[in-house]
Amino acid sequence: MGLNSRASHSEDSGQQLAPRLLQWFASHGRPLPWRKTYDPYQVWLSEVMLQQTQMERGVAYFRRWLERFPNVEAVAAASREEILKAWEGLGYYARARNLHQAAQCIVRDHQGLVPRSYETLRSLPGIGPYTAAAIASIAGNEDVAAVDANVLRVYARLFDIDRPVGSGPGRRQVEELAARLLPPGRARLYNQALMDFGGLVCLPRLLRCASCPLSSLCRAARAGTVAQRPLAKVKKKLVCLQRAAAVIVGPGGLVLCQRPAGELWGGMWEFPGGKYGEEGAAEALPSLIRRQTGLVVRVEREIVTVVHHYTHHRVQLTALLCAVVGGEALRGGEMGTASRWVPRNELHRYAFPAGTRKILAHIEAVCPELLLGPQDAAGCGCPSLF
Ligand code: SF4
Repeated sequence: MGLNSRASHSEDSGQQLAPRLLQWFASHGRPLPWRKTYDPYQVWLSEVMLQQTQMERGVAYFRRWLERFPNVEAVAAASREEILKAWEGLGYYARARNLHQAAQCIVRDHQGLVPRSYETLRSLPGIGPYTAAAIASIAGNEDVAAVDANVLRVYARLFDIDRPVGSGPGRRQVEELAARLLPPGRARLYNQALMDFGGLVCLPRLLRCASCPLSSLCRAARAGTVAQRPLAKVKKKLVCLQRAAAVIVGPGGLVLCQRPAGELWGGMWEFPGGKYGEEGAAEALPSLIRRQTGLVVRVEREIVTVVHHYTHHRVQLTALLCAVVGGEALRGGEMGTASRWVPRNELHRYAFPAGTRKILAHIEAVCPELLLGPQDAAGCGCPSLF
């Protein structure tokens, strides 16, 4: 399809697209909690939480979060650990750290009022073009198109775009279309209509073309190319990693290390350890622990091996029970982490990445005696971790 025919089709379809979509949204839009007031803090929170998160799960976290942090001042006043703990389980923790940092900027520089203009929002840490456009249009009704994965998919199908739209020229094509087709003065409703349409009708799989209100405008439906739209980009190869984790138990509790700020899962806590090679987890672990914490440990036994995934990585994490046999007091180690003994009854205050949570869940279910302090011999006094 040539560029000219693309453009003329855009014009034709565009004229009809907005009224039909808005009509559909009026009767089928989702009654989401932040749509009651369009409060910019709530809209911002919903947008950040829903990235890479299913709607139901996002809504549950959203409600819980608002109970704990009802306004931007409450977020700004919380410690980073409280923020990460409240975010625990949602993944992509940079979102929580950025939210926290931006809340502090808003309190400091904007009298605690979340901006509603695209330009001002873009000046805040961690607020990228999509999030700024979503907040500015939904909370402020500013005429900016918010292009997320749903919108990319819907436009790729409606206009039968025959190149990947995730990035590069395909994405720019969608952004240009989205900006051109946005009905002036209706950005709040139109952007949400597109998001809901992508989430309820024009789904990634099992889409509902038969009952689609836009089917007569849909170029991919006419061309029979719906199954190929959006065109997939070449997938990154899965990278497999092996990591060892030391469960070091002592009278002071368990040893945990905090991941350095700026790294993946920065600020969260995990068992000390690291990657190992052909020598095996048990062989590698004592020197890793020495470098990381200053402690000399002896490996007693394997507890469990868990697997978790992030982006295109598969991590096999082997937890080994270790006893302290010497070494210095705990310290920040050469590997840039802070380590400390954490009393067992305080574990629930800490935020853990998924792999560490899986290990703790296994310990709680299979060998809970590791979570019993000397004072708890008659029974576990720890609150449940999960
Ligand atoms: S007809 Fe199918 S592919 Fe086209 S917009 Fe509707 S649901 Fe999406």
